[in-house]
Amino acid sequence: MTTYTLPKLRYAYDALEPAMSRRILELHHDKHHALYVKNANLAVEELERARDDGDMTRLPALERALAFNLGGHILHSIFWQNMMPNGGGRPQGELARMIDRDFGGFEKFKRQLTQAANTVMGSGWGALVWEPIGGRLITAQIYDHDADATQAGIPLLVLDAWEHAYYLQYENRKAEFFEAIWNVWNWGDVAARFEAAQRVDVGLAGVSTL
Ligand code: MN
Repeated sequence: MTTYTLPKLRYAYDALEPAMSRRILELHHDKHHALYVKNANLAVEELERARDDGDMTRLPALERALAFNLGGHILHSIFWQNMMPNGGGRPQGELARMIDRDFGGFEKFKRQLTQAANTVMGSGWGALVWEPIGGRLITAQIYDHDADATQAGIPLLVLDAWEHAYYLQYENRKAEFFEAIWNVWNWGDVAARFEAAQRVDVGLAGVSTL
């Protein structure tokens, strides 16, 4: 059975400063993300045990735990790769063209994604998502790690809006964090995800828009 594992960061803990402090990245990756990985594995194991025991009384709780923790594992794994030291700037090529087409320009897209993160009520994420039925880019405001995510949508760029992502450094000034993070985006990674997402067949050809 597949066991989920915590991916190693591709840069040093202090490599994203000043946008993201060393201490935040240490805690966020080594403690928060690690716990989602552990609990995703636990949910899988407990589901297996429930099947073996023929006891489904805890199924709703286990399904919730799996969606929450696996969602957390996946989103954080993308988030770390979405960032790089000395990143920022703007996307190039086809990704840039599609952002222009679907959002009316980079600045409008930046404002929309930043606001999606900034206005999450409680804990959640802002995300740039490839929506394969319409064949367009959309933003999503994801609650916790899994609610209000579009089915079959493929996350390309995700922005953690949980308090643990910024509070130690920015305290209540979260808008400053959501602005600073645009200086560390790895647009090459986002473009590679965009290209790969367009090759994914979700089996809905013909269900497309008129
Ligand atoms: Mn997080």
